[in-house]
Amino acid sequence: MFLDLHTHSTASDGQYRPDEIIQMAVNLELEAIAITDHDTVDGIAEARKAARSLGMNFIPGIEISTQLEEEIHVLGYFIDEKNEQLRSACQEFMDSRLGRGNRIAEYLRYRGVAVDLEEIKSLAGEGSLGRPHFARYLQDHGYVRTRQEAFLRYLDTPEFHRQTDRIKPTPQEAIRLIHGAGGKAVIAHPGLLKMGKHWQESLFKSLREEGLDGIEAYYGKHTSAQIKYYRNLATELGLKVSCGSDFHGEKVKPTVKLGMIFPDEYRGMLIKE
Ligand code: AMP
Ligand code: ZN
Ligand code: FE
Ligand code: FE
Repeated sequence: MFLDLHTHSTASDGQYRPDEIIQMAVNLELEAIAITDHDTVDGIAEARKAARSLGMNFIPGIEISTQLEEEIHVLGYFIDEKNEQLRSACQEFMDSRLGRGNRIAEYLRYRGVAVDLEEIKSLAGEGSLGRPHFARYLQDHGYVRTRQEAFLRYLDTPEFHRQTDRIKPTPQEAIRLIHGAGGKAVIAHPGLLKMGKHWQESLFKSLREEGLDGIEAYYGKHTSAQIKYYRNLATELGLKVSCGSDFHGEKVKPTVKLGMIFPDEYRGMLIKE
């Protein structure tokens, strides 16, 4: 199978509009495409419309940033984007991202960057403001040569996190929100978690009790050993798996292409409605 269940559009920090992503999925002949913007459902209506007219199998999604000891991303699939609770939670996430934007600006000024927050907000447009917008600004204004360097030197340092943290929901809250909107909840890119395997296993077990539906075993940056490990763990815990690239467009994530190969033999494990 060729599909992609993890992509970002201009509704958050991606390069392409939702309808453009759908068109790209059609061109690549993907079997299914999900758009999973950070903390917002604003891109879904446009994507669905494009998918209908082009005959693409579209899954409405979201990626919610949550916090325990470390940041954990929870994907929601098959969500009803009109759900009131989900919409108002997304509004709160947007506000909290704007508040954090002010703190990021302060932090960057203290680091010697001449910050024009209005320019950065205009990079985000209507989309939810995120670190990649700041990374682009730092690159455009010659503070760093690459986006990666922007994260390394400015946007992913311990000091950055200490000074700019915002209040995020817990994974349990995200799962409840997703289920409340009729969706399925999946832990994103578990291979990026800093906590050890033992802690991950007990976390996934306890989240399964809260209704967790799956883990993103097939992730663009996972090694084949990680894929196998998380697929086996999903089987053991009775969870489904998901498969996504985290496509943001080549300007945002130069090495990540749209589309992932998922082995047919595990088709039954894929997250479904
Ligand atoms: P935010 O949700 O605003 O905290 O931004 C998260 C986005 O920043 C995600 O799309 C990540 O891919 C990107 N990101 C976070 N840390 C790094 C890093 N160290 N290098 C490159 N991109 C990163
Ligand atoms: Zn992103
Ligand atoms: Fe993520
Ligand atoms: Fe993502």
